[in-house]
Amino acid sequence: MISRQKTLVAWIALVAMSMMPLSVLAQTQIKYHTNKYSVQDDIKLGREAARQAEAQFPLLRDSEVQGYVERVGERLVRSIPSEFQHPEFDYFFKVVNARDINAFALPGGPMYVNRGMIESARSEGEMAGVMAHEISHVALRHGTAQATKGQKYSTLGAIAGIAGTIFGGPGVGQLAQAPFAVYMLKFSREYETEADVLGAQIMANAGYDPRDLANMFRTIEQQGGGGGGFLSDHPSPSDRYARINREAQMLRVNAGARDTREFNRIQERLRGYGTAPTMAEIQRSGQRYPVGENTGNTGNTGNYPNNPPRGRVEYPSNRYQNVSIFNGGVQVSVPNNWRQINDGSSVWFVPEGAYGQYNGQAVYTHGASFGVAQTNSRNLQTATQELINGLAQGNNNLRTSGGYQRTTMSGRNALFTTLSNTNEATGRPENVRVITTQLRNGQLFYMIAVAPQSERNFENAFQTIMQSVRIND
Ligand SMILES: [Zn+2]
Repeated sequence: MISRQKTLVAWIALVAMSMMPLSVLAQTQIKYHTNKYSVQDDIKLGREAARQAEAQFPLLRDSEVQGYVERVGERLVRSIPSEFQHPEFDYFFKVVNARDINAFALPGGPMYVNRGMIESARSEGEMAGVMAHEISHVALRHGTAQATKGQKYSTLGAIAGIAGTIFGGPGVGQLAQAPFAVYMLKFSREYETEADVLGAQIMANAGYDPRDLANMFRTIEQQGGGGGGFLSDHPSPSDRYARINREAQMLRVNAGARDTREFNRIQERLRGYGTAPTMAEIQRSGQRYPVGENTGNTGNTGNYPNNPPRGRVEYPSNRYQNVSIFNGGVQVSVPNNWRQINDGSSVWFVPEGAYGQYNGQAVYTHGASFGVAQTNSRNLQTATQELINGLAQGNNNLRTSGGYQRTTMSGRNALFTTLSNTNEATGRPENVRVITTQLRNGQLFYMIAVAPQSERNFENAFQTIMQSVRIND
């Protein structure tokens, strides 16, 4: 029997608790971002991307390892706070036989965990931490939220143009073409922090110490794995470490059986396979693969710098090299002192020192990029205007200067127009040339060339590049 007095005491305690400042007790509240896509769109995008990813990644086909990663993944998924659970999502987990410490998740739930990540983790909790972070991007629908915002120089391209499907023939819908762009996007600092915070909350719900997510950043750094993948994210690993630990103080960790023996056994089993190839090695061996989130580059392009572009670069070489992009759908010649950077759905060719990050955005000062945009019009000029409107959304300083000129590219009718811009990283005025033509399927193929207005020597290079373009759709 409960006495009156006890009830009263309990009631007072309850009032006292609810009057304590919320900041002391409460975990960080996270909200969804504006998203013009539906939950069903996330699912469709992720499914298509998963199909493509699996055509390109070597999966580790080991049912024991597979089963283990699935069990950890499912426990985390069950622990997603209810407001971020989407019963329609199909979370699944597969292991990629690659050494790089990385993992990525696709909209709607598919997740790929590199074998190197499992091998590097010092505990199941650290491995689960990376997975919880990735699950959080999915649950918060960051891929489509980011696509909603638009991306610099690839606003439409990011939504519509994907290397793997551009030349995939008819029947490929607009949405089906978005996935690569979506998961190759560099998420903003804000999104990364949200995924860390929600990841920590999921960890605690699942019975893992959320500080293990923070510890994983240390582990990766210690193992020299900072050169790409999970760690090359911004904010800096030490900021993330501190932020996650701060969140951890506000979280109550549920009871959960953590079987370290099983984790050790799985690591042992993986070591028995010998050394996994790196993603760069996989690529050199002739297989294509998309990069994990936030790396912003491919294996053959080196690391994407975290600092702003220097903006001081060599003249374009007079010697050109032929490059095949978009699965061989486009051939182009570029100066042989330029390097290729696959940035989201677009491909850039840039001299050293001409690219970097500024305010969490990829910024280019010199170079040419190529991409494909899905536009609403089949009229070349109207479609081009849509593209330019999209670019203007991501670049406040972008101004049209002069109208369209007719030209040709790859033997097709093309339009050429020059825009002026102020580069946000260097503050220098620059010209942005946009050349567009249409693919057989009605999509808009574009080349965007950027150089400071004072550096005229780039004009010839851009002309040569434009004339070298060969489209095989
Ligand atoms: Zn992330």
